[in-house]
Amino acid sequence: MDKPPSQNWTITQAEKNYNLDGWGLGYFSINDKGHLCMNPSGRGGPTIDIMDIVDDIREKALGFPCVVRFQDVLRARVAAINQLFNKAIEEHNYQGKYFGVYPIKVNQMREVVEEILDAGLPHHHGLEAGSKAELATVLGIINDTESLVVCNGYKDEEYLRLAMLGRKLGIQVIVVIEQFQELERLLRIAAEMEIDPVIGIRAKLTAKGTGKWEDSGGDFAKFGLTIPEIIKVVQILKEQSKTHILKLFHFHVGSQLTDIRAVKEAITEATRVYGKLAKMGFDIQYLDVGGGLGVDYDGSRTTADSSINYNMNEYASDVVYNIQQICMDEGVKQPNIVSESGRALVAHHSCIIMDVFGNIEYGTENGHLKSSNGDIAKEWQDMMENLKTENALETYHDAVAKKQEALDMFRLGYLELEDRAITENYFWRTCKAVINLVGKMEKVPKEIKKLQESLVDHYYANFSLFQSAPDHWAIKQVFPLMPLHRLNEIPTRRTQIADLTCDSDGKVEKFIDRSKLRDNLFLHQYDGRPYYIGMFLMGAYQDIMGDMHNLFGRVNEIHVFCDDEDPEDFYIEEVIKGDSVSDVISRMQYAGSDLLKKVKGGVERRVREGVIKPKEGVNLVEFYQQILQGYTYLKSQS
Ligand code: PLP
Repeated sequence: MDKPPSQNWTITQAEKNYNLDGWGLGYFSINDKGHLCMNPSGRGGPTIDIMDIVDDIREKALGFPCVVRFQDVLRARVAAINQLFNKAIEEHNYQGKYFGVYPIKVNQMREVVEEILDAGLPHHHGLEAGSKAELATVLGIINDTESLVVCNGYKDEEYLRLAMLGRKLGIQVIVVIEQFQELERLLRIAAEMEIDPVIGIRAKLTAKGTGKWEDSGGDFAKFGLTIPEIIKVVQILKEQSKTHILKLFHFHVGSQLTDIRAVKEAITEATRVYGKLAKMGFDIQYLDVGGGLGVDYDGSRTTADSSINYNMNEYASDVVYNIQQICMDEGVKQPNIVSESGRALVAHHSCIIMDVFGNIEYGTENGHLKSSNGDIAKEWQDMMENLKTENALETYHDAVAKKQEALDMFRLGYLELEDRAITENYFWRTCKAVINLVGKMEKVPKEIKKLQESLVDHYYANFSLFQSAPDHWAIKQVFPLMPLHRLNEIPTRRTQIADLTCDSDGKVEKFIDRSKLRDNLFLHQYDGRPYYIGMFLMGAYQDIMGDMHNLFGRVNEIHVFCDDEDPEDFYIEEVIKGDSVSDVISRMQYAGSDLLKKVKGGVERRVREGVIKPKEGVNLVEFYQQILQGYTYLKSQS
């Protein structure tokens, strides 16, 4: 049972309550003003007060919701994975090198990919493409001819020709054969284009991942070659004297691998296959362990779906060590190691800031209600006066029965609307009084636990879950959510967060906690003044999978860098305006200009008819035009 936060509230308690250390990897802290801060190079380094960023967004009249990208964090994550793999290679005296490739499907934003390439340049960090469009992007953006470009996904003739174009440009393009037919197609196209291809093969391993994406691996996985198909590839390459083109062996058992054991199992199986191929005389240079390095979204460091029971350091060390052990056992060369880690590189760098614009508290008095029947209020008051810890469950049962009785009477026409309203108000007040006794109960009855979980305030936040956190809606992925300020005050309200869409699924109902998930989040009493909350670890997959439910479009975005001169200052390098109403409707085949013409025509007709005054008509048309050009989200009143 989750308890309300304690009375002796401190900033340390706030950090604990929102489990900052669990999910934040040291990138977040709370300052003396009770504001959330970002520390792009971990604790002890430069600190940016996120409320200063909020002030800047307001000054620029940009509007919320707004995605904030901390580009320094992105760079730090790229540096970290390369440093940790290199450290593991050195510690184990491993004979190969590490080559990271970033799968752009995880976040294809140009500024994200460019930053990764720039930060990864000293390590020749390359890119992975999973489609024609992604490969076209990658070939146009990569500069370093020593970095790898790994081509995954299903490939038609055009995709393969594009890959060969990349080789003609001198880029290290490796085409991973995912389907048997791709091999013959590629060999034909490469011969036509007079270039030697470099290929990899993706194996369908028996080993499976763990967590929500475990079906990406195993016998029934969608991608990869079975062992009999791999043998056929071997035969074809031998028959055509092309054994030299097979340079990479690849597997991917799923994203967000929650259990390090799954990583070890997959590596063991894959390295055995690599070893056998090496012994057949194939000079394979790269063993590609795919993606899967997870993110501890809830900070529990467990095998729960939203967590991982390991960290990046352990992952790198286990990958290197386990490949080495099997290679030594098989007596084969230790290959260069490639990983296609995406989520773990980009999740931490971005968050979405939104403002709360309203709330509902159950059981609050709304207006003075006059009863036509004085007994109703009296009966409820008596019940509440007699409420004690010992009879809490009984009182709750009586309240439920009384509310039902009132509803039955209302249906039969014996109860006035105001009396029904009084009944509902007293019912919720009684429920709240029952819940207030929970702290004194030795054992909390199941029904009261359930009541406590469901009796939460709804806070309305200015964002669309479908646009900004589609994984929460689709696969119940949790993301850390917390206030950006007032963290030196006790958050007393147990809440759930509703978004702007008119869809009942547009709600955040699962939140992180220190060990397991919870159904509500403690926030501060909303009093109508600006109240800002943030959703964190949003950088992976969320940006590119969002949809336009209710025509809420892409959100405003700013890219923040630390100021090298001042450790407490920052600068906004880029502001990317979100979609306007005109932008989103044009994607649905409406032309803003046509709509404007129609509305203008309508206004002119009403002016001619004398219903609208000419001056008012001009203002109405201007207003409509302004709406078309404006942001799709709520305009803050403050
Ligand atoms: N490589 C391949 C082939 C993938 O399908 C994926 C995503 O599922 C990735 C890499 C990236 O995985 P992650 O984001 O878990 O690192």
